[in-house]
Amino acid sequence: MKCTSCKAGKLNPAYLEPLLPCHSCSNCSGKLVMMTDYLRWKDLDQEAYLKSDTAPEVVADDTSKAMLCPKTGRLMTKYLISKDSDHRLDLSPTINAIWMDAGEWELIKANGLAGNLNTIFTRHWQHEIRSQASADVLSAMYQDKFGEQYAELKAFKETLNSMEARSEAIAYLIAEDPYEA
Ligand SMILES: [Zn+2]
Repeated sequence: MKCTSCKAGKLNPAYLEPLLPCHSCSNCSGKLVMMTDYLRWKDLDQEAYLKSDTAPEVVADDTSKAMLCPKTGRLMTKYLISKDSDHRLDLSPTINAIWMDAGEWELIKANGLAGNLNTIFTRHWQHEIRSQASADVLSAMYQDKFGEQYAELKAFKETLNSMEARSEAIAYLIAEDPYEA
């Protein structure tokens, strides 16, 4: 099997983990893992995926270009790993083969996500990542706008939300002179 990522190497049988078979590229060290093998490994080797490697810094390759599945030759779909990382995994939709660039499995383990590989590809997971990422953007925007008062404002908003007379309180706040009849 030829590597469709670097287009220079050969994919040879290898192991991602002692009980997890994969194919590894002789040139770019990218890995192709079948979802069925991953799920079997997760079942067999629960201990291994639960402990996360606390590697302080993982350097992983990231190819943002579209990639063809080495097995089917069809376009693979990209999935974000987490909101804090630009890394994406490729999935071959018809056969559920996962492509990881060199170092991405280590990155996944370092993030404590080795047991979540199958959930990363769900619509729910991807949706969560996107909404968390946009929440972060908005939060930074508010921080920028409100500066030192942001924390106070946030706490006050909570108070306001817990009030029974919330709408009246808001009206009171925005009125130029709430004592004017
Ligand atoms: Zn390669």
